[in-house]
Amino acid sequence: MKTITRRSLLTNAVAASFGGVAMAATNKKKKKSTAYSEELVAPRTKTQGLRPKAKEIVKITKLETFLVKPRGLFLKMHTNAGVVGWGEPITEGRALTCATAVKEIEPYLIGKDPRNVVHHWQAIYRHAFYRGGPILTSALSGIDQALWDIKGKLLGVPVYELLGGPTRERIRVYAHARTPEDIKKRKAEGFTAFKCGPAKVKDRAPRLVENRAYIDNAIEKFAALKELVGKDGDLGIDFHGAIQPGTAKLLIKALEPYQPFFYEEVINCQDVDGMAELAKSTHIPLATGERIFTKWGFREILEKRASIILQPDLCHAGGITEVRNIAGMAEAYYASIAPHNPLGPISLAAGLQIAASIPNFLCQEQVSLGEGYIKNPFKVREGFVDLPTGPGLGIEIDEEGMKERDLIGHDWKNQESYDADDGSVVDW
Ligand SMILES: [Mg+2]
Repeated sequence: MKTITRRSLLTNAVAASFGGVAMAATNKKKKKSTAYSEELVAPRTKTQGLRPKAKEIVKITKLETFLVKPRGLFLKMHTNAGVVGWGEPITEGRALTCATAVKEIEPYLIGKDPRNVVHHWQAIYRHAFYRGGPILTSALSGIDQALWDIKGKLLGVPVYELLGGPTRERIRVYAHARTPEDIKKRKAEGFTAFKCGPAKVKDRAPRLVENRAYIDNAIEKFAALKELVGKDGDLGIDFHGAIQPGTAKLLIKALEPYQPFFYEEVINCQDVDGMAELAKSTHIPLATGERIFTKWGFREILEKRASIILQPDLCHAGGITEVRNIAGMAEAYYASIAPHNPLGPISLAAGLQIAASIPNFLCQEQVSLGEGYIKNPFKVREGFVDLPTGPGLGIEIDEEGMKERDLIGHDWKNQESYDADDGSVVDW
């Protein structure tokens, strides 16, 4: 009877996934090596420090980034094993800046073992000295996603298996819907949870303190959408941090009878004390997190009870490694996780891996199920997508298809917004 060892499983997984070349290389090593021999321990480099023993030598060989429409940046991390990992190291509107940040991190990663994910996270984050912020943590987030993707592919399992999952059988997702037509369309597609924004009057930005016409219009439009969603569906509302506290208070009270799923970014997340005050003023859960980075960013939100639905973005908050940590912190405060994601299929795939790894998952945001970008786009049924079963992030990027569909390259910019009455700068 043939004995199955971890080594033979790994060998088979690599061979199955990456063909004859990888198989030949692995067999070659197998002939002249035994498990745990020095030869099979990945060499320590001058900068790597102590690291766990590994049975195979796997090294990162190249980091490649390319702009992807409408506003994304994809990272393709190459290894000497032929395995590639994918990530989205992007801050919206700063794709080229993020590509440069990845380029500046590349020399650290070249020659390193991609499987030491947490070790690399720590090195990239802490050795920067100036830590955090949207650009550096977005670059780190995409790299972290690619490292997990490679690790899962090498072991032949989804990332959630490596994080102790699955914790659920299917994953709830929500869709954006701003109009009654949007709600009807999304419902027909299978969604049961939605998110809208406060309706504007004559398309102008909300004022510091709004009048009755603005509030009444916002309530009327929300009520119409909620009616279509039905009592057994959910409709959240995102203030985008663009509503000033005076107007936010008015909206929060007026919307309460319609029981929104959540109020998102009711004010700018920099004002944690102000958000905590608003959280105490309503029984509807407050949500925030798309512009908050790392466990250190979310600590104050939790400690001050400013929100009980955390929305870390897998592409900004520090990747899978860090969002898993944030979910653990949230659990201690009985708070839930609803990953933010207005980006692409890699971000979605990373969020689904988190959803399948944690106990306190609420709902996953998405704006695309991957059509045009991945070979087997996700499908929604009864408001849920199936648990991914493929190795790593569980998706296969359709590089040729993206080229054929002219999805490579963009010059997307953040919009400029000015007050309709006096031309001053306003949030959007
Ligand atoms: Mg938002």
